[in-house]
Amino acid sequence: MIASLSRHSPVFIDTHCHLFWPDFAEDLPQVIARARAAGVWRMIIPATDFVTFHQAVRIAEHDEDVFLAVGIHPHDAGMAGAGFVEELHALARHPRVVAIGEIGLDYHYDFCSPAVQQRVLHRQLEAAKELHLPVILHNRESDEDLLAVVREHQNGSLRGQFHCFSSDAAYALRVLESGFHISFTGNVTFKRSTLDPVLSLVPDNRLLLETDAPFMAPVPFRGKRNEPGYLPRIAGKFAEVRHQTVEHVASVTTSNAMALFPFPNSDTTEKSDE
Ligand SMILES: [Zn+2]
Repeated sequence: MIASLSRHSPVFIDTHCHLFWPDFAEDLPQVIARARAAGVWRMIIPATDFVTFHQAVRIAEHDEDVFLAVGIHPHDAGMAGAGFVEELHALARHPRVVAIGEIGLDYHYDFCSPAVQQRVLHRQLEAAKELHLPVILHNRESDEDLLAVVREHQNGSLRGQFHCFSSDAAYALRVLESGFHISFTGNVTFKRSTLDPVLSLVPDNRLLLETDAPFMAPVPFRGKRNEPGYLPRIAGKFAEVRHQTVEHVASVTTSNAMALFPFPNSDTTEKSDE
């Protein structure tokens, strides 16, 4: 796969794309080919439950640079049965799994009560620590509760990503203090985005890129299907807001992803080995 990426152009990692979503059923090979052409080297597909995890596994089987996260999304927390933690442990042993996710809290929708969401989140954070895996965290209108639950589990070993960050600068500082990475999607390109000050304050060593495809397409595709090939547009916005080059953004976000997620053979020298 590396051979298809040019040696001198920026190399990106899309840390969050839901390629199992039905929107990709018709043309996934072309979507992945466009991502490669755009410089996207690796992709992480976070499942939303165990059914979508198995769908993601089938995609990863066709591409050695597609990796997986396994977990139960807060929307589906009500479906976590008695044995779900054991099943989570078993699925996390798949060699392509690099994180527990996506997990978290979502108080915007009412698919599942906050109490149940929190109980399921606690169990998955426990599992992540036992498995020595980072977490991919979803947060919607649940800033205080999410940080409180995560901090309860932070013994120095818990690491992970606050994905699709859309809270304010003060919250970002608390997330960083708690030891987590922050990633932004196409939402930073939206005309009325208030995220510029937040995007500016995240230090290079905690910043990650993601699309959250098929959602959150960057401008000028806003409202359409998002795909990993649009990642350079998001990186371009990072560069503009942070007064950095796209090459710098690519370099730091790719190294951060490599350090955070335990990719097998994640020796960076591999990247120049065509
Ligand atoms: Zn997601």
